[in-house]
Amino acid sequence: MSKKTDKYWDIGWQLMDGCTKCSPGCLHCWSESMAARLHAEDIYVDGCPGGSYNWHGTIRLNHNRLKIIGGKPKTITIWNDPFHEKVPFGFIDRVNAIIALCRQHTFMVLTKRIERMEKYFVAESSKLGGFTERIIRESNRYIDNKKYDEFYEYMRDKQGILPNLWLGTTIETWEQWDRAKILSEIPAYKRYWSIEPLLGEFPHQLPPEKTDWIIIGAETGQGRRPCKLEWFEPFIEYADLYNIPVWVKAIELNGKIVKDITQFPKFLQRRESPTFTTENTEDTKL
Ligand code: SF4
Repeated sequence: MSKKTDKYWDIGWQLMDGCTKCSPGCLHCWSESMAARLHAEDIYVDGCPGGSYNWHGTIRLNHNRLKIIGGKPKTITIWNDPFHEKVPFGFIDRVNAIIALCRQHTFMVLTKRIERMEKYFVAESSKLGGFTERIIRESNRYIDNKKYDEFYEYMRDKQGILPNLWLGTTIETWEQWDRAKILSEIPAYKRYWSIEPLLGEFPHQLPPEKTDWIIIGAETGQGRRPCKLEWFEPFIEYADLYNIPVWVKAIELNGKIVKDITQFPKFLQRRESPTFTTENTEDTKL
């Protein structure tokens, strides 16, 4: 993981197109502007580039992208919000089956719809037959009988917590702090906060909630909103108190966005990450 770039992932997995705005951080949604640019008259956005445009809530699930991902270990993020209300849990089961089968990679799953993530992993889990059972069932689509037994043992052993599936939530202002609380309640190998875009002041001495990584940054791009350097302080203090790695993506300095950390104030020169699953030697191959 290079500290020279603000990018902490290797590839994006575009499993769904479309979304709906649900939070202050969605205002300048990057994915929406890409959809407007690539499919101006298409089904996902009203309006067109150059004028105003808006998701209109159509979601397309890209079933053709649900396949085993080979190759060298990578960090993979899923585009858009996989816990959007229109993404069925059955689809998420298939995604997780692939994640469980491709364990040389680390998958980072980020949502603003943390209640629905909790519903999937906790509240509905037993009702739907249990996470482990569902993933084992879905794995049938991707492996033959010979590998199935080994996979079955693996899943039983992990008891519903996949070491290469990291769960995260976005928190842009103090108003969204409840998401940190809910994330704490979801069983996960690693949890992370994406404080991006950082849009306001948070109290110092943040209440303790479980996280293994803090990714934080100012809003970038056209129409970006201001971001004060002191807004970063509570998160840096929290990280130091609980010994949590911090990845500072971008800051606003003298009215400009800066991504080169050598230009950051000393206290923000942090591009740290937890040990990625793919850096472990165990559990790397099926
Ligand atoms: S949840 Fe993510 S993808 Fe969906 S509108 Fe908001 S920023 Fe865009």
